[in-house]
Amino acid sequence: MVVAKFGGSSLADAAQFQKVKNIVFADSRRMLIIPSAPGRRFDKDEKVTDLLYLCHSQQASGMPFQKTFEEIQKRYSDIAKQLHLSLELEPFFQEIQQQMEEGASADYFASRGEFLNGVLLANYLGFEFLDAAEVIFFNEQGVFEAEKTNYVLKQRLDKIEKAVIPGFYGSNPDGSIRVFSRGGSDITGAIVARAAQAELYENWTDVSGFLMADPRIVTDPRPISHITYHEMHELCCAGATVLHEDCVFPVSSAGIPTNIRNTNLPQHPGTMITCSALQREDFAIFAGVSGKKGFSLLVIEKENPDHTWSFVQEVLRVAKKYGIKFQYLPSGAHCVCLLVEAKQFFEKQQDFEREITKSNVPFSMTVQPNIAGIVLVGYGIIHNRLAVNRIYTALQRHNIDVAMINQGSGELSTWVGVSENEMEEAICAIYEEFL
Ligand code: ASP
Repeated sequence: MVVAKFGGSSLADAAQFQKVKNIVFADSRRMLIIPSAPGRRFDKDEKVTDLLYLCHSQQASGMPFQKTFEEIQKRYSDIAKQLHLSLELEPFFQEIQQQMEEGASADYFASRGEFLNGVLLANYLGFEFLDAAEVIFFNEQGVFEAEKTNYVLKQRLDKIEKAVIPGFYGSNPDGSIRVFSRGGSDITGAIVARAAQAELYENWTDVSGFLMADPRIVTDPRPISHITYHEMHELCCAGATVLHEDCVFPVSSAGIPTNIRNTNLPQHPGTMITCSALQREDFAIFAGVSGKKGFSLLVIEKENPDHTWSFVQEVLRVAKKYGIKFQYLPSGAHCVCLLVEAKQFFEKQQDFEREITKSNVPFSMTVQPNIAGIVLVGYGIIHNRLAVNRIYTALQRHNIDVAMINQGSGELSTWVGVSENEMEEAICAIYEEFL
């Protein structure tokens, strides 16, 4: 069976609901459906979740929120009317309004977007409605309880054939509502896919999958047909906006592939994300390229070289102590280079240097600021012996200096450091070279 999550733009109005129904009924394996709240219908439109948060801040500051809530109700009533549903939404609206007036939490307000969309969609599809509050749990500290949820959800799903489960929220130990971070319906979908032991998790949105590069930098980049969870993680480290880590974990750890699909172009295969590498159908040797500014390159060097490794170990211990994150670590017995997030490092630089000084080993440290980290990701890269050569040549052609390059420490990515103001040009040069 397949778990299909539909994002806000996929369910923004009645026409979108029809597309979703066609998609669901086109494959009988699509048995568990996770909706978001209605998103924007046009450019300047409001997302229902944003309106609900607005309602809450109006209510909390003693302002009337009813007008905003009426706008929200109309979104749902219009959908129900245009789809000729016999469902009575009024009792739901009354109950929600009463809770709002009694000072319900911001999380309760926000969650009603998904709740109402779930009620509507279940009625439209003729599927059972399963309230996420009954099967998705958080602990007292507000941390998602993965194992309890998995256990309870599994039991419930065993007794259900086809259901709609609203995304984005669950419940606290006292039964009150808690939401995930924004965009959290993706997480709900992954949690349900894990509990249902689905063969596939489909994430339906308004784009045909991920692109091999940021379209604001590279003109018309190719879509990624296939990528592994691991490769996706590497792209994220260098700034790509793909799926959130929390959302990937339930499915990647259970070995379930994710397919990103476009509700407005359902014939497009989208991006398939799997646990292990497949031969890419388009023979691209890499999955994607992304870049992120705001790094500094540290070079920490022992003044009297010898062949013991204790200095390197000491530097790493101190980096760990101060929580300094680094992306890249070439080292020798007397020298360590670290690519660090500049903002985070500068806050801790003095403590970091002071602590290394305590080891009584004379050293020097240089900090090269304003570095952008570019990562070229893909299992094909390390099997391509000329890859680093090609990166150098492509950058040289554009007169771009390489501050650092590191091939394949994680077996699937090559990091290149360039000056921040040359990042965009460098990404274009690398993308052109490999495609
Ligand atoms: N509706 C929520 C949001 O706008 C959650 C989601 O769309 O996944 O963030």
